[in-house]
Amino acid sequence: MNTALSLPADLLPAVRDFGCGPTAIRKDALAKLGASSRLGSSHRQAPVKDLVGDIRAGIRDLLEVPEGWEIALGNGGATAMWAINAACLIRSRAACGVYGSFTAKCADEIDRAPHLGAAIRTVADPGGLALPTAIPGVDAYCWAHNETSTGVRAGTERPANADPDALTLIDATSIAGAVAVDISAIDCYYFSPQKAFAADGGLWFAILSPAAIARAEELSRSERWIPSILDLTQALANSRKNQTLNTPAIATLELLADQLDWLAQLGGIDACEARCTRSSGILYDWAQAHPLARPFVADASLRSPVVATIEFADNVDATAVIAALRDNGIRDVNPYRGVGANQIRVGCFPVISPDDVEALTACLDYVIERIAA
Ligand SMILES: *Cc1c(COP(=O)(O)O)cnc(C)c1O
Repeated sequence: MNTALSLPADLLPAVRDFGCGPTAIRKDALAKLGASSRLGSSHRQAPVKDLVGDIRAGIRDLLEVPEGWEIALGNGGATAMWAINAACLIRSRAACGVYGSFTAKCADEIDRAPHLGAAIRTVADPGGLALPTAIPGVDAYCWAHNETSTGVRAGTERPANADPDALTLIDATSIAGAVAVDISAIDCYYFSPQKAFAADGGLWFAILSPAAIARAEELSRSERWIPSILDLTQALANSRKNQTLNTPAIATLELLADQLDWLAQLGGIDACEARCTRSSGILYDWAQAHPLARPFVADASLRSPVVATIEFADNVDATAVIAALRDNGIRDVNPYRGVGANQIRVGCFPVISPDDVEALTACLDYVIERIAA
């Protein structure tokens, strides 16, 4: 690795954080956070409850959440939602699409639950997509709207001919807030706020259909032991009062509320989607045109608008590229651990400016020219 490689200042992006979670956070959101009078005050009093109320209303507006669907929140991030799926939403048998590390973790959690049958997996190799199809007796279908480890975007339609009371539980952690989605076809659309919402980690949010709420109530009345921290009915009862079961990170709530305002000012969800598509398109086009790079996801129709994974030819060592970028302040373009290929992975969330992505491609050209063997 050439540690002496110094990128010309005029090539550098203005914002140099391209992580896929946590993502870059807007500087003015951080400045406002520093001045927040709500930090260090009770989450059971009006100022923080109003903040939670604004967030729930902001998500409802941005994602055009239909009448009857409710927005719950709690502590533990999307990882907790995998456990909550298993504890409170799956009755006995789930089918899962598994096409990368995050979708695999969701299925693994179901496998570990002693009261559930093993997850029925539909599997694709990294870079591909495999969605579950209808199976009689399956009461929940799980997959991710965006597989963050590889940069594959999936559809969100209910499997045709699924049992009428089967639920769809969709992990939207890295894409909720970046693209338009038909929530009316989804029973549980869940995410953490440190990705497309450019806040910080620690919380989960779940948009729940009437059927999902009824299922959680049914299972909470059953014999099943459900720890309070995973109990969706308790989370929902608190959320309806703009509270959480236990203490939330108020800083995360502040950042999220500010970003929701910013996304609305950007022009709402269609403007967000256009911006992300433009940013990731710049990278995909760059890779396609470059003799030593290519988009990792071969099928262009599956390429994520928010997580662009680029694979290099063998004579370009991605580790050296990543190190050279980091030496120049460009952070977190690492591939997902476990996927292990000769790649970079670039967050193209709404917070990221397409101009900065353009600048990143110029930096990549500069680095590759100097390090390619
Ligand atoms: C990041 C991510 C998670 C995990 O989120 P945490 O907030 O770290 O628990 C789960 N699913 C997907 C698709 C993700 O991108």
